[in-house]
Amino acid sequence: MDAFPKALIDGYRTFRTQRLPTEQTRYRELSVRGQSPEVMVIGCCDSRVSPEVIFDAGPGELFVMRNIANPVPIYQPDSAAHGVSAALEFAVSVLKVKHIVVLGHAQCGGIRAFIDKTAPLSPGDFIGKWMAMFIKPGEVVEQRAHETMQDFVTRIEKAAVFRSLENLMTFPFVRNRVERGELRLHGAYFGVAEGSLFVLDREAKEFRSVKEVAA
Ligand SMILES: [Zn+2]
Repeated sequence: MDAFPKALIDGYRTFRTQRLPTEQTRYRELSVRGQSPEVMVIGCCDSRVSPEVIFDAGPGELFVMRNIANPVPIYQPDSAAHGVSAALEFAVSVLKVKHIVVLGHAQCGGIRAFIDKTAPLSPGDFIGKWMAMFIKPGEVVEQRAHETMQDFVTRIEKAAVFRSLENLMTFPFVRNRVERGELRLHGAYFGVAEGSLFVLDREAKEFRSVKEVAA
């Protein structure tokens, strides 16, 4: 175990002694009958925004797909490999999840790079190309007059959740299940500093604090 991070070994030991004993039965059950999570979460890779932590989820509860800034591409059944689409295909067609939650967050580095039009980090400009999928052809993303930079960034972080929800509906297997009432799509936004969660009210097109949403 050449220089395997000590923090991870220590963390695993804590898991073995504290968490595993309380969840052992669940792990054994899941190993026998397989997973059947009802919720898929599409979130950002950001280390501060872990869906399992935020939603206090145990093993087998969340099917999580994380990428830079949580975009969902549009449905493109071409010859290229599509990671998000593969995860979606499995979650919807095999696991038959009942909910998909797109989880955006504050201080998203991917969104910031997109707004700042950051120079490519490598010749591949993978982040630049990845983030470009948030814009439709001809769409311009600009700071409004009298809008602070902070408000602009927050607006785009939230708009990105809307766009991902819109793009999810371009997948026929998602649309079909949504239209049959077997699958529901949700948006959420996590405020890192306060640990606050906001849930999208799609009719009002507004994010509401979970504190205001009736339990
Ligand atoms: Zn992010």
